[in-house]
Amino acid sequence: MKDYYQILGINRNASQEEIKKAYRKLAHKYHPDKGGDEQKFKEINEAYQVLSDSAKRVQYDRFGNVFEGGAPGGDQGFGGFRWGWGPSGGSQADFEEGPGFSFDFQDIGDIFDEFFTGDQSEHRQEAKRGRDIEVELGIPLEATLQARQEKISLSKFIACARCQGAGAEPGTKVNECFSCRGTGEVQQIKRTIFGSFTRLGTCPECAGEGMRPEKSCNVCKGEGRIKGSEDVVVLIPAGVDINQILRVEGKGDAGRKRGRAGDLYIRIQVKPHSQFQRKGDDVHATVPILFSQAALGDTVEIPTLEGTNALLDIPAGTPSGTVLKVAGKGIPHFSGIGRGNMYVKVDVKIPKRLTEEQKKLLKKLREEEM
Ligand SMILES: [Zn+2]
Ligand SMILES: [Zn+2]
Repeated sequence: MKDYYQILGINRNASQEEIKKAYRKLAHKYHPDKGGDEQKFKEINEAYQVLSDSAKRVQYDRFGNVFEGGAPGGDQGFGGFRWGWGPSGGSQADFEEGPGFSFDFQDIGDIFDEFFTGDQSEHRQEAKRGRDIEVELGIPLEATLQARQEKISLSKFIACARCQGAGAEPGTKVNECFSCRGTGEVQQIKRTIFGSFTRLGTCPECAGEGMRPEKSCNVCKGEGRIKGSEDVVVLIPAGVDINQILRVEGKGDAGRKRGRAGDLYIRIQVKPHSQFQRKGDDVHATVPILFSQAALGDTVEIPTLEGTNALLDIPAGTPSGTVLKVAGKGIPHFSGIGRGNMYVKVDVKIPKRLTEEQKKLLKKLREEEM
């Protein structure tokens, strides 16, 4: 899995100028002709190719990192996971229209696509493809410490078991389509602003199958899929952050008549923690200490995200509000290497109720001008 931003050592919201600058600096440093690391140089170039191209960057931001997830001891069919940060802003290109003249770019693109590729089978496949499903998954902050499996129950289209997705009633004949004579294509005329075009289009009678069952499946009425439910087990890597999107290939709606299934997109929500606030991969906490501990210094026990206690040294003469760093006790970096830090703000407690003895001691301190 590759984090292009990390490779270039820049923020996710870096400007094109910053990207270019970081690239030049690193390319110079790692150039193989100057005795640099060739592998590293290749990586830097790859990262730059994507991030310097605004269209590619938007795509990468949304679904970018290729995470090669293996199935942890199961046949759950973990696909290729792709990761990114969302939501992506402004993927739609803006066209400026001249006065009194406008036409649909999308439509023209489609026409030429079909003409020049000349292949209808891909379009047919797309038409049968199941829809993508997006779900939100809330996980506790401490759950980001380690990779974990989550079971997600989905209500969706699943392949029809009776006809195994084919749409034909078992035991009945499947005939050649009378309309297209088995080719799956018929001639169509498309009228556009450039004139009329004749082309081969998908046969509407058989939806491009070329075959028609004598009798449609009793259960799915020939669709090859039915409403149902499925439990999907997903591996959530350590260090995930809010709004990160996980893609599980082929776990969306089943396609019509054995068409390709859609994909499942899981948007991560990290639930707030009662003691720790997350900032990037660091966590922040406030710990109360006594006035005497602040003045004299002490070692105190502090909570950690793991749920165990760690020891924190309070130096003598620590003012209230001081932030002390505990290295490596934050969230694991998503890259898999290293962790963020914990920052502990000490809050010196002023007692509200005092015993006679405490009052006497404090009065003595006052005499000492403390
Ligand atoms: Zn069926
Ligand atoms: Zn047909």
